[in-house]
Order: sequence, then C-alpha cells, then structure tokens
Amino acid sequence: MMINTNLDRKVIRKKYEADSVILIENFLSDDYAEHLYNFFYNQIPNDGWYCFTYPNAKEEKTFSKNRYLPIEQDNIELSKKIARDVFKTNLFATIFDVTLDNHQEECNCVECQLRQYLASAGVLEFLYDVTGEKVIQPKEILATRYGEGDFLAPHKDPNRGKIGFVYSLTKGWRAEWGGNLHFLNEKNWTLVERVIVPKHNLLTIFSLNNNQGKPHFVSEVSHAASTKRISISGWYK
Ligand SMILES: [Zn+2]
Repeated sequence: MMINTNLDRKVIRKKYEADSVILIENFLSDDYAEHLYNFFYNQIPNDGWYCFTYPNAKEEKTFSKNRYLPIEQDNIELSKKIARDVFKTNLFATIFDVTLDNHQEECNCVECQLRQYLASAGVLEFLYDVTGEKVIQPKEILATRYGEGDFLAPHKDPNRGKIGFVYSLTKGWRAEWGGNLHFLNEKNWTLVERVIVPKHNLLTIFSLNNNQGKPHFVSEVSHAASTKRISISGWYK
C-alpha cells in the first residue's frame, strides 16, 4: 500500500461533504512520493515530453502535440503563439507539457506503475471512503508539466466523471509564481472561491457535480519560477 496510512478518512470525508474540494497533504508514503518526484523531475529526459497546446488555429477546435525535439522547435513556438493569441480573446486556450504516450502494454516504468496503482482497488476504495462517490475507474490520467508562460484557461470539464483530482509533486513552489489551481464560482466566473498552490505530495480532489464539471483554471506561470510545476491529474468516473 502506497497511500499514507496515517490519513483519517472520516475527517477528510467530512471536509469533502462540506466543501466539495479537499486537500490531502502527504497523500502517498514519503518514499513513494520521493520516488515519483525523482522520476518526473530527474529521470524523464526533456524529449520525453510533448508541448500540448489548444487550439492549434483560431476558431479550430483541435490541439497540437509537439515532442521536445530540436526539429520541432519552430512548431512549438508557433503553437504557443497561437494559443496565447486565442487566450487574449478570452476564449479557451492552454499551453502545458504532457508525457509521451508511447509506452508499450507491458511497460513497467514508474509512470505506468503509477497509472496502474491509481486504477487499483485500494485507490478506488480510498476515493470512496473520502468522497462517498462510487468511482469505478479513471476516465483519463495525464502527467503535466507547466513552465514559464504555461497556463490553462477557465473551463468546466463536463462529462468527465464524478470527481477530478490533481496530485502535485512540485517542491518549493511559491504562490507568486502562478501555476496555481483556481476554483471559480459556478455562476460568476470572475469570483475565485479557492486557490490551491502546488505542493509536494499534495492531492486535491474535487467534485464534478455528477458529470457537470466545475469551473477552474491554472494561472500562468511567471518568469520568476525557478522550477516547473509537475502534477498528475485526471478524472474518475
Ligand atoms: Zn511506461
């Protein structure tokens, strides 16, 4: 079992019922969180990531995924520029990095092991204990990396499942560096209800209101950030 055995699931459940967003510090055992940190921060080479941007042209609902290879550098710059220009018009846009999805079926890398673990009965039971939601499997899991200038514009994620999560691996982050997860008021998206600053081994779980989603965004990472924001996020249905 890699979940921290000292967590009081009943106390967490009460907070979830009251707020529909919960922060669980020290979610995984220290050793395992450190193991994940080392993998995502130190072992994946830069070309083990893609630059993910949306949209890839104005008024087009498609994304771009360009691997961090020298020959893709021009494409990456252009895709980022398009996403930033669309962001300026207050339409949905995003720029962040995701890991390669070229792992084989029997791949036993740290990320593949983590993905299996997040789909295991032990984790599903934990999620039931702390939220009361009978989730059956992850709908989608992404390992994401945000560096300077990366952002995720406000959106709701409808039809993604019952709960969303963000598991942060980042160490030493500062709120003023941006990269913070903001939850917005359902009816008025200019009102921020909660801001979550990345922190190592912090799990955030939020209700998707029976598939309706919840408005949120990740603020743009500042030029002052001396590290990148890496987290594993997704949804359970
Ligand atoms: Zn793998």
